[in-house]
Amino acid sequence: MRERPEKASGQAPLLAKLGEEHEQNYLQQLLAKGYHVTVVDRRAAGGFGRAAADTEAAMARGDDFIYQATFFHDGWLGHADFLRKIPQPLDGGTWDWHYEVEDTKLARHTEPYFLLQLAYYSEHVARIQGAPAANMHVVLGNGDRATFRVEDVSAYYRSVRTRFIARLAEADWQPYPQPVDHCGLCVWRETCEQRWVQDDHLSLVANITRLQSHG
Ligand code: SF4
Repeated sequence: MRERPEKASGQAPLLAKLGEEHEQNYLQQLLAKGYHVTVVDRRAAGGFGRAAADTEAAMARGDDFIYQATFFHDGWLGHADFLRKIPQPLDGGTWDWHYEVEDTKLARHTEPYFLLQLAYYSEHVARIQGAPAANMHVVLGNGDRATFRVEDVSAYYRSVRTRFIARLAEADWQPYPQPVDHCGLCVWRETCEQRWVQDDHLSLVANITRLQSHG
């Protein structure tokens, strides 16, 4: 297995810093409003399994917000920025309250992949609380809060997940680093660029992406 690079290249560190500031600003706003925010500290917890257990314990206690919620189940890992407590029970739910996912994003508009990410986190939340929440949210870089219905995205999410798992199971599948918009932020960028240079890939022509190179 490859060692994950410590640092991203290009603009990624700056964007990561701005993203972290946006997340911290939102955290400070919640604290200023008097909410009880539990922080799941993955390093202090000593592993993903323990951080996931800390997240589930905070949900079972009914803490107002859970920051850096960690999910680790059946080989699947995820980190949601925030879980917000909704003080009403769900049909089939475990408690008299439940949680909805909130993710902070620097972007000014919601991108389709945000919704897949939120649906993935919401699936973990549903597993823990016994029933799916109605909504999921993105806190955008301009402060706007966009809300989406989980059930509007969940069928598409499940189909993408099923196709992904089927592809992984294909014995002869050779993954290839197809350029996408996220490459500019990715810690693997240098590794992939080496492969593109080696293969004389079309992506080396002025930032061309998969959609364009397959168009
Ligand atoms: S193709 Fe792009 S997003 Fe995928 S691993 Fe490589 S640099 Fe990252």
